[in-house]
Amino acid sequence: MDELERFWSKVDKDGPVSSLGTPCWNWLGNCSGGYGLFYIIGGNGRYLMAHRVSYEIEYGTIPKGLELDHLCHNKSCVNPGHLEAVTHIINMQRRLPFRGQNIYCKHGHVFDSIYHGVRHCSICDRRRADAWQKANKQKADATKKRWRERQRV
Ligand SMILES: [Zn+2]
Ligand SMILES: [Zn+2]
Repeated sequence: MDELERFWSKVDKDGPVSSLGTPCWNWLGNCSGGYGLFYIIGGNGRYLMAHRVSYEIEYGTIPKGLELDHLCHNKSCVNPGHLEAVTHIINMQRRLPFRGQNIYCKHGHVFDSIYHGVRHCSICDRRRADAWQKANKQKADATKKRWRERQRV
């Protein structure tokens, strides 16, 4: 059995029909965190994410910097028609608790980073930091000026 045959022997193409109207192809092999793992024997032997393998068989190499989003929300599904290559930020935006929320900040920029579970807009973050620094500098300058004036007396 070659690697491809071995891969498809671990796939059940008659899974439940997803909201996309087509059945999920459930991975029958090992899983990690809900995602299927496919062991490649060639080379030094290593595990690959099964859904990534299936996507690459169908569409070719996943463009650098993109990750696969399960449109059917079934992590063990390897149906390439249920997978979309998206940027990390879009993938995160689509997940709970952000799913269905506005993807724009209140100034109309796309939220482009997430840390500590909170979405951020880097443009507004930078503006806020600049404004804070400016205000702080003005305050510091005023204090210095007052101090200098006092020294003169
Ligand atoms: Zn699916
Ligand atoms: Zn913004």
